[in-house]
Amino acid sequence: MQDYIYYNKLGLDFPLNEKIQVATNLEDIKDKSFLISNSNDVKNELLGLEIDYYIKNSKDSLAKKIENTLKLYEINATKFDFAQDVPQTIDNIPNSLMIIYKNIDDFKNFTQNLSKDDFDLYKVEENLIKKIEGSIGNFEVIVDGGNRDITLKTSQIIWFDENLEKKMSGIYDPNLLGEKIVLQTIKENLSGYNFFKTITYDKTICQYNERKDDICAKCVDVCPTNAITKDDKNRKLVFSLVDCIRCGNCVSICPSGSINSAATSRESLYELSSFYKNTKPLILSSKSNLSELDVDLDENVLPLCTIGDIFDETIFLTYLQVSGSQLVYFSDNITKGTLESINLLNEIYLKKFGKKAVFLATNKEELKEALALQEFIDGSYYDFNQRDMRKREIFSYRLEKLLDKEDLGVVKTTRDLSYARVLVNEANCTLCLSCVGACNVDALFANEEDFTLRVNPSLCTACGYCEIVCPESDCLTIKYDELELNSSWFSETILAKDNLFACVECGVEFATTKAIEKIAKLMEPIFKTQSPAKARSLYCCSNCKPKVMIMEELSKNEKYTN
Ligand code: SF4
Ligand code: SF4
Repeated sequence: MQDYIYYNKLGLDFPLNEKIQVATNLEDIKDKSFLISNSNDVKNELLGLEIDYYIKNSKDSLAKKIENTLKLYEINATKFDFAQDVPQTIDNIPNSLMIIYKNIDDFKNFTQNLSKDDFDLYKVEENLIKKIEGSIGNFEVIVDGGNRDITLKTSQIIWFDENLEKKMSGIYDPNLLGEKIVLQTIKENLSGYNFFKTITYDKTICQYNERKDDICAKCVDVCPTNAITKDDKNRKLVFSLVDCIRCGNCVSICPSGSINSAATSRESLYELSSFYKNTKPLILSSKSNLSELDVDLDENVLPLCTIGDIFDETIFLTYLQVSGSQLVYFSDNITKGTLESINLLNEIYLKKFGKKAVFLATNKEELKEALALQEFIDGSYYDFNQRDMRKREIFSYRLEKLLDKEDLGVVKTTRDLSYARVLVNEANCTLCLSCVGACNVDALFANEEDFTLRVNPSLCTACGYCEIVCPESDCLTIKYDELELNSSWFSETILAKDNLFACVECGVEFATTKAIEKIAKLMEPIFKTQSPAKARSLYCCSNCKPKVMIMEELSKNEKYTN
């Protein structure tokens, strides 16, 4: 396999770097396959969607254009190296087809174009449908059968004016997609349905997985299809990747970075950011039709194409600081997480630099305006090795550097992109450390050397689980939806402190004061009624406990003998 190919039957009016083969005739390359191509007419592993757009529209000097075109191939090669979006196929989809209709004429018209041998057909009126489960190749449709529900099995479904709350693969609406396309699609599917493993998931930092309460399921809430659902009984997320449409909703909203795009993971985006140093990045969601986009790119503007809106506040800040420039983000169907992240960073940048961080463009006109305004920001450049760091940890490092010890007050966040500060009423805290066990992102931790409970607010994902598991009343609370722009936000704060407790008999320190006080509070009233020595033993080390009890018995015997 060769690496880079540029194919254009009209040729190019400037040379490309020698690492890129240029072809004007498909015949010349018909037996070859390439790693990165600008065109899907050529066999390739990865299509660089932004290559043609940059070549056609950039106002860079010739030398810069040659340099940047090579960069775009290298960017895509790096994406390919990191990608984990393995193609998958469901082979041999059975030919059963259910048609769901409100109006019988829709059914009649559609089936006129089907030959009898094509499919095993069922028809069902829409008002009888109670539930649909499964996915393409294996649907179970529960219908109202009068006295009892009936389960019908089918491989594909045609549904006129389909009204499912969450979309499912293998259900097609001819009124939306067009009859011809639907007919072609359902026939092609019979020989195999192709999809990608689109997301990766790290359950160890997920705020839903195995938690007792529903403290997070943001990804489930924003997923427009059935690709992510909850199994509330077992407290597990359930993934049906065949239903994933690669919109990026779950990736951009996940507070801990547990969900990642398999095609372009956070790690790969961090790696790619180095290509954008001293450039003005234009981030293009690949849902936009780039071949029809004809907006000029000023000098130094370098595009980056992503599959879906997967940018969150950490990735944005990485690109802002590594490029040293404002960003332009182009998407005509932006996800909630990406939008909230843009709003948050704009507030922070306006406070710090008096300028927006990111210009959001949702159409051609807005894109032109945004590109005209985009500029480098003095003092915003910062880079460091953020490999193997978690999402909020990276944001914390970068934000701290951005503030440069200034106190810029507080920015309000929202429940969709929440920041928070944990507060503890020390008088009621017993230092049981249940909250530390509950925190899976290390925002809360215990320092064993000085018996302190500590928090680093900048690492907290505002999940609230520590508040739920704290067994004491009026003890741990959370101040939600505020991000403090001052140095205390990034430093470890002591929430509660304990001391060593000395045995009341021998003076040896053997436990912490709060632990002894907690046990004594529960047991002392009972022990006091039994004997004074038993009550005193609550404050003794393990050596002195039996001694105290024996001494009491001996003194009783002495009294009896005398
Ligand atoms: S959004 Fe992230 S942390 Fe929350 S449930 Fe989904 S994967 Fe877990
Ligand atoms: S400190 Fe509490 S609210 Fe914050 S991430 Fe940890 S468990 Fe969740």
